[in-house]
Amino acid sequence: MRNVIFGTGKFASEVAKKLESYNINIDAFVNNKTNLPTDVYNNKPVINIDNLDFTNSDFNIIVAKKPMFMGSAIEYLKNKNFRNAFLIKEEIFFNSIRDIEDLKNYLLPVDFSDKAILNYLETNIVDNCNLNCKGCAHFSNICKPYFVTPEDLAKDLYIINNYFHLLCFRLLGGEPLIHPKLDEIVKVARAMLPKTELVLVTNGVLIPKINQEMIDSLRDNNVIISISLYKLTEKLLPKILERLNKENIKYFINDDYFKKPEVITQFHTRLSTEKNNEGAQVSQNCGGRFCRFLRNGKISKCYYPLLIDNLNDLFNTYFIISDDDFIVLSEITNGWEAIEQLNNSIPFCDYCRSKEQNFEWERANKDVAKLDDYVLKLKKK
Ligand code: SF4
Ligand code: SF4
Repeated sequence: MRNVIFGTGKFASEVAKKLESYNINIDAFVNNKTNLPTDVYNNKPVINIDNLDFTNSDFNIIVAKKPMFMGSAIEYLKNKNFRNAFLIKEEIFFNSIRDIEDLKNYLLPVDFSDKAILNYLETNIVDNCNLNCKGCAHFSNICKPYFVTPEDLAKDLYIINNYFHLLCFRLLGGEPLIHPKLDEIVKVARAMLPKTELVLVTNGVLIPKINQEMIDSLRDNNVIISISLYKLTEKLLPKILERLNKENIKYFINDDYFKKPEVITQFHTRLSTEKNNEGAQVSQNCGGRFCRFLRNGKISKCYYPLLIDNLNDLFNTYFIISDDDFIVLSEITNGWEAIEQLNNSIPFCDYCRSKEQNFEWERANKDVAKLDDYVLKLKKK
């Protein structure tokens, strides 16, 4: 049996290195992209998966991408009815691995006849934030207070667990550490999703101060902390890491565990008050297309449709949300069909521009009218 890695980026190369260190030989890297690099790791061949010759040999395909980006590989393998496929768990880079038997725990065999595989989902457990960045994509700088209750989260996760094998679930906001019931929220998420990678995304500023119940709950429920490195976070980083290390909590910074983290200085947006008819095209390239977002019994392709009321209410904008912008959990009858729907563009994508607008990161000042000028300057008079 030959082993082929599905993925051609840094993540794939590091996975290959790890597997080969346990004497699992890698024969090639494959991808379903048109532009492939010439070399990924150790001069192994890099091949378009359509050109892989399956006639002469049996292959194990090992999907080595971060969970958020695994969707198209899973879809590809399902459409080809491929059987010997494995998904790499991201935790392979966090945990110390005892031996080859232990290593196999990080290779998840794919069974397409079982529940649908949903690679990634995120939710705001709270909308507000202690940093109030200007142009926050989740509108945390202008939102009304919102805190999900453990009961409501449990209801949604119960349905999700019925239809999907969810690989990665991210708790975010706003700043999730300001949720007064964070410990309960985390317990509920772990109880409903026992095998899912749970990640809490935070600006980190409160980590040195949060109470011990919260810290215990994060560690005991195997939650990985993803720290976004803003200027204020950087100042506190030694204290933040000291606490996480002392408490034995896994973390990574700016979603990357391979390179030295840099302070976030730029934000960007595609959102505009002007509708265009380019949504289908734009959504093929925007980063938001990977951010499947759960809120109050609905899942949308990205966070905008389910959070845009914050902008509409404050600025009298008229972003229209249609029933086709999200799926309703209670109406799902087939998990794979629901995923297909989420993969397509949605009517809301017509509000996004093809070109991203970049702006300097800064905390919002008190002049509310200026908070979202990056979007509102295109507002029709
Ligand atoms: S820290 Fe994150 S959630 Fe908070 S306002 Fe800034 S971008 Fe939004
Ligand atoms: S609405 Fe569509 S185009 Fe805009 S960020 Fe979301 S997925 Fe991308």
